[in-house]
Amino acid sequence: MLAINPFDQINPPHRLLMGPGPINADPRVLRAMSSQLIGQYDPAMTDYMNQVMELYRALFRTQNRWTMLIDGTSRAGIEAMLVSAIRPGDKVLVPVFGRFGHLLCEIARRCRAEVHTIEAPWGEVFSADRIEDAIKKVRPRLLLTVQGDTSTTMLQPLAELGDICRRHGVLFYTDATASFAGNELETDAWGLDAVSAGLQKCLGGPSGSSPITLSPQFEEIVRRRKCVEEGIRTVDHTDGDDEMIYSNYFDLGMIMDYWGPERLNHHTEATSMLFAARECARVILEEGLDNTIARHKLNGAAMLAGIQGMGLEVFGDIANKMNNVLGVVIPQGIHGEQVRQMMLNDFAIEIGTSFGPLQGKIWRIGTMGYNARKDCVLQTLAALEAVLNRLGFVSPHGEAMQAAWNIYDAEQN
Ligand SMILES: *Cc1c(COP(=O)(O)O)cnc(C)c1O
Repeated sequence: MLAINPFDQINPPHRLLMGPGPINADPRVLRAMSSQLIGQYDPAMTDYMNQVMELYRALFRTQNRWTMLIDGTSRAGIEAMLVSAIRPGDKVLVPVFGRFGHLLCEIARRCRAEVHTIEAPWGEVFSADRIEDAIKKVRPRLLLTVQGDTSTTMLQPLAELGDICRRHGVLFYTDATASFAGNELETDAWGLDAVSAGLQKCLGGPSGSSPITLSPQFEEIVRRRKCVEEGIRTVDHTDGDDEMIYSNYFDLGMIMDYWGPERLNHHTEATSMLFAARECARVILEEGLDNTIARHKLNGAAMLAGIQGMGLEVFGDIANKMNNVLGVVIPQGIHGEQVRQMMLNDFAIEIGTSFGPLQGKIWRIGTMGYNARKDCVLQTLAALEAVLNRLGFVSPHGEAMQAAWNIYDAEQN
């Protein structure tokens, strides 16, 4: 590649990012990020923090007081939830239907949980009954789910799980990183106790900030953990005697005291990322969350129609597909990586590869956030068809683009 002089000004190549994330950030978000810094206890800054809480309550569709940002990528949000809630020896149940389910297991094991799993073949999701049966058998303290697993493009239905968890006294968490703002998510109506997300998927921002929300019940659990005796920490919530949270950075008790009226010093809020998260939320709430979800649905449907029109097979159970990512089966005789390279080098378009059991078998194409747009979808389809034709794949002439166009035209009528 071209990076020769480390003193050159940074100037990344122009790319259209149509993979499973990250995607091109909305220019409004980039502009917000370039705003000047202010002190972390400046009233303007604490106002911004309060505004972020308010904006994300609207996006999560929750009344939860504790709706805030974890500084770090989406994994930081996941880790904060798990290390703060799981006590050593706690039983957790993880329905695994892709790579990110395995990540939840891995983090829960580090928290010394007793991890129980049920597994679905990649490309499928779980019925509520199957999850309830497992809950009855395992009797977990927490149910850890992934809403949209980009590794398989599947969306686990969550709407019925909250009632099941309530009936069995189980706390209900979901990693909504990939699905948030592109697919329906009702924190309160679905009885979710904890949800974490990230900016770099449907929210249209860069990675590096993880919006989270926790229910009063979840807060209770966290508050019961022992606090570390520390000079700067004056609020003591040690009414319980549960074992201490092993992480300082991800101690949600301390993070709540930092975002709450106490404003106890913890870390230095990642100001530029907070500006980004705030603008991501504003962009969506101006459009209207339902409209944003509908836009993801429309562009996802157009991409699907285009891919099928091209004569390609799509991966997994389409009835449970996320709106914003599509798995495309790499056709016989075509080398998947060669196609990705030609897409990148000749069209400056990035599409995604795959991991684990799907490696070399499917591409993953995203239509999310700022790139959930007609021009992005049509450009990607045109480029992909041209590349495949170049490599000897014969597609029904012109049908991909027309099929995608038809979806858009039908929407307008
Ligand atoms: C993309 C994705 C993540 C990303 O985590 P990062 O720490 O931001 O890289 C997490 N969970 C799911 C389900 C994802 O799809």
